[in-house]
Amino acid sequence: MKAHDGMYIDGAWRPAAGPDVIEVVNPADERVIATVPAGTVEDVDAAVRAARAALPGWAATPPAERAARLAALRDGLVARRDEIAETVTAELGSPLKLSQTVHAGVPIAVTGSYAELAATYAFEERTGNSTVFHEPVGVVGAITPWNYPLHQIVAKTAPALAAGCTVVVKPAEDTPLVARLFARAVHEAGIPAGVFNLVTGLGPVAGQALAEHPGVDLLSFTGSTAVGRRIGAIATGMVKKVALELGGKSANVILPGADLARAVNVGVANVMSNSGQTCSAWTRMLVHRDQYDEAVELAAAAAAKYGDRIGPLVNAGQRERVRGYIEKGVAEGARLVAGGPDSPHERGYHVSPTVFADVTPEMTIAQEEIFGPVLSVLRYADEEDALRIANGTVYGLAGAVWAGDEAEAVAFARHMETGQVDINGGRFNPLAPFGGYKQSGVGRELGAHGLTEYLQTKSLQF
Ligand code: NAP
Ligand code: MG
Repeated sequence: MKAHDGMYIDGAWRPAAGPDVIEVVNPADERVIATVPAGTVEDVDAAVRAARAALPGWAATPPAERAARLAALRDGLVARRDEIAETVTAELGSPLKLSQTVHAGVPIAVTGSYAELAATYAFEERTGNSTVFHEPVGVVGAITPWNYPLHQIVAKTAPALAAGCTVVVKPAEDTPLVARLFARAVHEAGIPAGVFNLVTGLGPVAGQALAEHPGVDLLSFTGSTAVGRRIGAIATGMVKKVALELGGKSANVILPGADLARAVNVGVANVMSNSGQTCSAWTRMLVHRDQYDEAVELAAAAAAKYGDRIGPLVNAGQRERVRGYIEKGVAEGARLVAGGPDSPHERGYHVSPTVFADVTPEMTIAQEEIFGPVLSVLRYADEEDALRIANGTVYGLAGAVWAGDEAEAVAFARHMETGQVDINGGRFNPLAPFGGYKQSGVGRELGAHGLTEYLQTKSLQF
C-alpha cells in the first residue's frame, strides 16, 4: 500500500489543502493498493490559477515548440509503457495484454498524432480580405472517467496542449494512479509549470469545483449522461464552452449477405473487451430473422469461450448495477443464452460474459447503457426495420454494419444516427473524429476535429 500525498500543481507535487484521502482498490482482489489526496475547492482553485498564469506563455509558444514538447511526452509514455499497463491493470482490473495494447498503446498513438498536428496544422488562414487566426480557447477543465483512464486524459490534454491551451485534469476516483504517472511524464517532457495540472478528488467536490470555476474557459467531460447533463448546465450557464462525451447503446447491424460467423464473433469480442466498460461498445446485435437462431448459437458459444479471460468490473457498485440489469432482462422476458448474474469468482468484482436472446427494442436492456459484459441480440424483419431499431435509442455514439457488399453497408451506415460506424470490421483509427449524435454528447475528440474543439477564431480584415 502506497500513500501518495501530493497533487501536481504549477509544475510541482504539492500537498493537498485538506486531510481527506481516496483509497484505490484493485478490483481483481478487492485490496487497497494506494491512497491519493481527495482534492477540495482550494486545490482546484490553486490549479486553475496556475493554469491561468501559464496561459499567455504557452499560447505564445510557437506551435513547432509545442509539437516538440508533445513528441517528448510521447517518448516518455513509450518509455513507461510497461508501468502504465501494470498500473491500469492494478486499478481498473483489465487483463495485462489489453492494458499493454489499448490502455498504454492508444494514448501513445494519440499523443504522437497531436505532436504531428501541432507541427502541421494551419493556425492561420486567409479568406477574402481577412486573415483568420486559430487561437487557444484558454484554460481547459477536464473531468475524466475510469474505463479508459489514460486514453481519456490524453484525448483531452494532448489536443489542448497542441492548441496552446493550459489544462486542469480531475481524473476518476477509481483510477487516479495512471493519472499521476501521466503527470510525471508531462513534467519530464519539459512542459512548463502550470501548463498541465492534476487534482485528484471526488466528483461532487473537486469535479464540481472545476465545472463551477470562473477561471475555466472550456469544460470537457467524459462519463455518465446524468453527471454530464448537470455539469454541462452549470458550465453553459456561465457561458463556458462545453464538450461532453457521454454514453452509448451502439448497434451492430448484420445484413443478410454478411459473413455471419465473423460478424458475430467480432461483435461479441467488441462487447466483452474491457469487461464491457466501453462507451462505444456494440451492445445491441441486430440479426435478420432467417439467420437469428444461428447467430444466437454462435454468440452464446463465443461468449462461453471467454470464461475467465475478461477482467472484473471496476468496483462493487458497477458490478451491482450490471447484475441489476441482467436480472431486469430476465424479468422483462429476454432469454439468457450465456452467463447470468452470478460470478464463478469468490473475490473480485466479476460478472460472466452474458448474452441475451429474444430481446425486443423496448426492453430496458435494449435501451439503457449497462456498462458490463452483456450483449443483447435482436431480430429484424427487413432493412427498414433494422434501421428503425438501430436508431431507436436516445444515444448515437458508434456502431457497425456488416454486408456482403461494402457499398450496401455504406448505404445503410449513411442512414444511421451515430458518430462512428465500422464497416465489415474496419479497425479503430486514432485520427477519426469520435463523438456522439443525440444524447451521446456534444463535440468531437481525436484527430484534427479534436484539435479544433480547443481553438477559437479571430478574423483581421485588410
Ligand atoms: P460519472 O459519475 O459520470 O464519472 C465521470 C467523472 O465525473 C468522474 O471523474 C467523476 O468523479 C466525475 N463526477 C461525478 N459526479 C460529478 C459532479 N457532480 N460534478 C463533477 N464531476 C463529477 O460516471 P461513473 O459513476 O463513474 O459511472 C456510472 C455510469 O456512467 C457507467 O455505468 C456508465 O454507464 C457511464 N460511464 C460512461 C463513460 C463513457 O465513457 N461515456 C465512462 C464512465 C462511465 P468520481 O470518479 O469521483 O465519481
Ligand atoms: Mg461516479
